[in-house]
Formats: sequence, structure tokens, C-alpha cells
Amino acid sequence: MSNELMMRKRLFKLYAANLPFYLDDKSFTGLFGCPICMRPFSEESILPETLEVNLAHIYQKSLGGKLCTLACKKCNSRLGERYEPHLTLEAKMHRAFDGTGTSSIDGFINWQGKRIPAKMNMDEEGRNVVLSPHLAKMPEVLALQAHLKTNPTDQPLHLSTNFPERQRQEIASLASAYLMMFREFGYEILRTTDVDEIRALLRSDDPPAEVPCAITSIPCQTVMTAPGELAHTVTLVRSADGMCFWGIPLPSPVKDKPLRCVLFPGPGKKGSEDYKAICRVRTGSVQCKCTVVPLPPARQRLVDAEARYFGVRVWNEMTGQKVYC
Ligand SMILES: [Zn+2]
Repeated sequence: MSNELMMRKRLFKLYAANLPFYLDDKSFTGLFGCPICMRPFSEESILPETLEVNLAHIYQKSLGGKLCTLACKKCNSRLGERYEPHLTLEAKMHRAFDGTGTSSIDGFINWQGKRIPAKMNMDEEGRNVVLSPHLAKMPEVLALQAHLKTNPTDQPLHLSTNFPERQRQEIASLASAYLMMFREFGYEILRTTDVDEIRALLRSDDPPAEVPCAITSIPCQTVMTAPGELAHTVTLVRSADGMCFWGIPLPSPVKDKPLRCVLFPGPGKKGSEDYKAICRVRTGSVQCKCTVVPLPPARQRLVDAEARYFGVRVWNEMTGQKVYC
């Protein structure tokens, strides 16, 4: 049996055992519910022949993510096709313009009504356009080269490239945060106020003009972990005005920069108050100076169950104090 199939089996059992705690509908017994669309799936759906349910990377694999949970094929592909490429593009852009000149992104030089493909980056001298060798024989490229030879180069060239869309980037971050919450707490997260709105966003093919405030992504230096790695924990984050949120640290796409921390509405009764507080953080009317507080022990049902399967540890990254081991 392949490693991936073994992991799918373990996760399937884990979530199928967790689901009945949260759903009164007994027809779900022994089934897995996709955390995004909540469609029920039987154990056959994880087999290679059908693979209707597959591993879902919490932070995308192409950016170094290793942690997994499960989601249905349809939801997985929607995130992979419509949203995650915008996070990848963001990371690529940062690498291309970091001044080392070692990575580049594809772009165009707009010249005399033509779009001439070029690689763009920035080295330490600030040069930022590279005409790739494989383009050397294109008539437009030859014409541009001839033009640059015979004309002073101090006139600016117009460059264009594809920029990541901010809303899609935010939804990709939200998906990571949501899947991380699901990994840690299982179906408990369905009790979180406003989670329906988050799931509706993750099920949409296109983002709304403005991503609602259920998500905000703040630079977070209080949750420490190595750049490029996802902290193996979800933390409670308290804002300056005392409101608590779930804080899900995500790696920054920029090396050596602080992590991002996606704030999630708090669980339980206080959910909508927390949601309002997130809106205030988002609109800038609250200065969000976040500190990390330990997880309350009551929210550990899946972690307890999961520990039996995986030996997961949960700890407060700030204090190093083990919350669950
Ligand atoms: Zn689904």
C-alpha cells in the first residue's frame, strides 16, 4: 500500500470517527464529510480507482507545504486552479525582485504596439529585463535590439507582467487557515460563527469584488517558526482591545520576512463579537497589536484523537510551553 493511500486511510478513519460528535444526522455515520462542501463520502472514495477524496495540502506543496488533511477532489481542484497560483505568483515576484537576479518572472516589453516576451528580474545593479536566448531570433526582438543599439537607452521601456490578484491570494490564505483549523479541531470548527460564509467563499469559482472581513491577514511576529515552515499549531491571538481570535500562522512567501497570521472568528458564542473585531482590524479602526495566548484545554477533542494516530504535539510557540503532548 502506498504511503499516500495509508495516510488517506488514517485521516479518513480519524474524521469519520469525529463527525458524529457534531452532526445529529445519523446517516453520516462511518462517512467523511468534505470540510469545504460537506458532501459525504464513503471509504471507497479514497481508493486510487476512484480518488474522489484526496490529500489536501494545508499550505501549497509548491511553496514547501507538508501538512495535509483531506478534501474532496472537486474542492481541492478548485483551490488548486483558481486561487493557489496567485500565492505562487506572489512568491515568484518577490524572488525575482530581491536584487540577487537569480529568479525571474515572465513579462512583456510593450514596444511599438507589440508585446515582446521577456524575463524580468532585478540584480544588484537594478537591471531588470532579460531577453531570453531562445527569443533571440524573433523578428520583434531583433528589431528592438537594433533600436536599442542605435538609440540612447535612457528612454523608458514599458514593461508589463501578470500580477497576483489580491482577493484570490487572500482566499488562498484563508483556505490554508481553514484547512489548518479542520486538521486541528475536526468538525468542531463548523460550530464557529461565520464559518458558513468562509465555506461559501471557498466553494466559489470567483471571489466577490471585496473579500468579506471574516479573514484578515496580518504580519505576525509573535508566532515564531522558521521561514518557509508552517507552525504546527493554531493559537489564540488577542488584539489590543482584548478580543480573541484564532490565529493561524502561515509562512510568508518572502524569505526572512515575518509570518502571516490569518485571523479567524473565535469559536463558540463570542464568534460574532470576534467577527466584528476582525472587521475593525481589517478597516484599520483598531490597532491590532496581537499577542499569542495558550489554547484553552476544552478545544482538544480531535487533537486528542489525532495524537493516538500521529503523536501530534501542540505547543505555544511564544513560551515554548506544551499545551498538549
Ligand atoms: Zn468538497
